[in-house]
Amino acid sequence: MTDMSKHMRKVLSDVPTLKVFDFSQYVSKIPGIIKFTIGEPDFDTPADVKEAAIKSIENNRTHYAPQRGTTGLLTAIADTLAKKYGLHYDPKTEILVTNGVTEGIYSALTAIINPGDVVLVPTPTFSIYSPDVMIAGGVPVEVDTSATNFKLTPELLHKYLTKYGDRVKGLILVNPSNPTGIAYRQDEINELAELLKNKPIFTICDEIYSELNYDGEYSSMAKVLPEQTILANGLSKSYAMTGWRIGYLCAPAKVTSLIFKVHAFAVTDIATFVQDAAEAALRDGDKATRQMDQQYIKRRDYMYRRLTEMGFDCTQPMGAFYIFAKIPPFLNQDDNELIYQLANEAKVAVTAGSNFGRGGEGYLRFSYATSLEQIKEGMDRLARFCEQAKNK
Ligand code: PLP
Repeated sequence: MTDMSKHMRKVLSDVPTLKVFDFSQYVSKIPGIIKFTIGEPDFDTPADVKEAAIKSIENNRTHYAPQRGTTGLLTAIADTLAKKYGLHYDPKTEILVTNGVTEGIYSALTAIINPGDVVLVPTPTFSIYSPDVMIAGGVPVEVDTSATNFKLTPELLHKYLTKYGDRVKGLILVNPSNPTGIAYRQDEINELAELLKNKPIFTICDEIYSELNYDGEYSSMAKVLPEQTILANGLSKSYAMTGWRIGYLCAPAKVTSLIFKVHAFAVTDIATFVQDAAEAALRDGDKATRQMDQQYIKRRDYMYRRLTEMGFDCTQPMGAFYIFAKIPPFLNQDDNELIYQLANEAKVAVTAGSNFGRGGEGYLRFSYATSLEQIKEGMDRLARFCEQAKNK
């Protein structure tokens, strides 16, 4: 009898995304529930961007695309990174267009990991990294940052570099972060860079929320240690283009050349009309992004105030569109049980913190990628639930 891969079975047996999927199936059957679980903009893709794709299809740009990306998009990415962030990458050799950040990070990890290599994954964090590392044959080591305001500190990094020594091949840095909404300052990143410099370690920077960084300047490992950085970014969040599947990777030429081969075997290329739309977004889409940002800021401020008033201890949200809130003592402390209670009794859906790895237990993630009206109604429901719980 033929059997499936034991390795893959083991890797995928307990990934949190499956639990999240079960919960989302469950809540989809509850009429009128308000969802704070959404991990994507509730806005539509800007009209100009959609028009660019339509025009591209009409011009029959529907054949195989260059596998690294179209010259137009690669150049637009290089120009955008230079103009906005002061980063300089050669569009011909140091940038690669990917099927979203998700594929970019998968291909990058596959290309750098040898069997048994350790990749440090500060948690709580988005759920793709550890499974990706395991699929590539590496060992993800979660670094719990809950005691350090959800940031990797030099002390923590030093501790883990000492513990795992030569086995460490990579570090994942998500900035701003899903699920915690924290963003690193450049001086904090510089301190981490000091510890990584000249070591055979890559930092894989997931900067998908770089345009949703409300309070701070752009900060990145790519500014200080570009030779050891693999930068992943994309248009899903900043231009409301999740379904288009478009992202990119930037790294030194010798690094992208192997990642490119993994990408080419797995994905081939990204549809030309999607790349044309992305080019239009990067060239002219800033206004739309800023308008979305204004909405997110209003929602964040409102939600943060309401949750704090209810007794949730919330991490100051600086970027992305999430608030990571500690469950107050008067509610069920088991986040996986509480989300079902909230769904059934308050008709509010949120994501359990433990789905995001070590240090997330006892927290809830609230997404504010939904309208202010929905947020107001959802917060009212939650406030009533909290009052009842206090009076029990
Ligand atoms: N990285 C982070 C931190 C995310 O939160 C998400 C989506 O929620 C992604 C990557 C997925 O990005 P993409 O749509 O570009 O694959």
